Amino acid sequence: MQTQPTASHFINGQYVEDTAGTPIEVIYPATGEVIATLHAATPAIVNQAIAAAKAAQSAWAAMSGTERGRILRRAADIMRERNHDLSILETYDTGKPYQETSVADATSGADALEYFGGLAATLTGEHIQLGEDWVYTRREALGVCVGIGAWNYPTQIACWKGAPALACGNAMVFKPSETTPLSALKVAEILHEAGLPAGLYNVVQGMGEVGAALVTDPRVDKVSLTGSVPTGRKVYAAAAAEMKHVTMELGGKSPLIIFDDANLENAVSGAIMANFYSSGQVCSNGTRVFVHKNIKEAFLKRLSERLDNAVIGDPMDPATNFGPMTSRRQLDIALGYIAKGEAEGARLAYGGKAIEGPGFYMQPCVFADVTDDMVIAREEIFGPVMAVLDFEDEDDVLARANDTEFGLAAGVFTNDLSRAHRVVAGFEAGTCYINSYNDAPVEAPFGGMKNSGVGRENSKAAIEHYSQLKSVFVRMGDMEAPF
Ligand code: NAD
Repeated sequence: MQTQPTASHFINGQYVEDTAGTPIEVIYPATGEVIATLHAATPAIVNQAIAAAKAAQSAWAAMSGTERGRILRRAADIMRERNHDLSILETYDTGKPYQETSVADATSGADALEYFGGLAATLTGEHIQLGEDWVYTRREALGVCVGIGAWNYPTQIACWKGAPALACGNAMVFKPSETTPLSALKVAEILHEAGLPAGLYNVVQGMGEVGAALVTDPRVDKVSLTGSVPTGRKVYAAAAAEMKHVTMELGGKSPLIIFDDANLENAVSGAIMANFYSSGQVCSNGTRVFVHKNIKEAFLKRLSERLDNAVIGDPMDPATNFGPMTSRRQLDIALGYIAKGEAEGARLAYGGKAIEGPGFYMQPCVFADVTDDMVIAREEIFGPVMAVLDFEDEDDVLARANDTEFGLAAGVFTNDLSRAHRVVAGFEAGTCYINSYNDAPVEAPFGGMKNSGVGRENSKAAIEHYSQLKSVFVRMGDMEAPF
């Protein structure tokens, strides 16, 4: 497959190159080989992209929602038709196994395009009667939106931000992560093939400084970031200087509580999905797994047996279900935390070793006997490292689960119906699961509480974050004044 794109950027409906920008090497995580070289956006490229977005936006907003939605839904169909090729590209970009990318990346992006395409025609204001007088509200676009992505779900993030932005009549300038810059260009190509007018979905490449240049540009009205909490703080602060709208999808250290009445096999499946999908590089992962003392050893035994069935290898092989880490840097971070866990006295119950050979491979890792104060129980690792903690009492475990700066997700496994809902009501987290983990359907709001974020992606809730209301007061009688 051709992995070198036509050019680094996609602006005003076409590929654009400026080789004066810092080179960005794209590395295939399974082999460590360079598969493409792109260039970071220069200030001229950033300017060109924002200018194109600004110029195109108002005509797009003036179209009917039905017309806008039709284009998004056509793009969804094209994405689904090309799912195989897009999945292969995503696997090259991220190292995630084809077994995953073929069902979770372009398909999820297509869901967002289809969902928000459908919603576009339904966006309305309201009528508020005030006696004879009345107020009506207009739901209007924000203007130019900037999307900045993380490297774990590049196609999905490009669509989760682009689809609601476009549905509401905005233009978008999207900057993918410098680690995985390829697939957003394909999203732009497909949108334009589906009929999107030039300038409405632009992609520029670059590191943090390109992101910062986009965020601080006065022509930009909204910033949606998916990234870490430290980056979120910087981007939120920069956006605040000009009162820009923000959506912040940030990191987590989410709890998963397994009670002793839970179905053990389902709970083990939940813990696997909460820690090892995408080699653990998922923001909402439930990496603090609180297991009731009565079932702890049975849980650990069954978990180890199930982990022995992980197929670690060539991500293009459809049988592989555990791929490499996306970068050497992320592999080193995960291995560094494993060393810290051992030094702090946690019991290494499974795996955790780097795998020799080319590529950024490691074994899935489970620590048992973890305590709340250990670094591996407090900091986001963003790798396949599960911390198992013991508990006995419901109130106590809920307080421990919430004792974190993060609030992205949380889960509970139990067969006690009342307890499930009681515990979920007590969670300080934006996305919760009962007897499940890590589902993210486009129909449901997704986002974090506390330091894990601001705003929500997906669902009707996202419309609130990509549009604004204008209230119009209409007086029917004479206007009165005091003098
Ligand atoms: P990161 O914070 O290092 O980078 C995210 C993006 O921000 C990149 O595109 C980067 O170039 C850009 N950036 C960096 N500094 C910037 C600045 N000063 N101004 C503007 N942009 C800047 O995160 P990452 O390592 O790419 O991704 C992993 C993190 O993302 C984890 O913390 C993970 O939990 C989080 N994440 C969150 C979600 C979610 O939906 N909540 C989803 C995926 C990943």
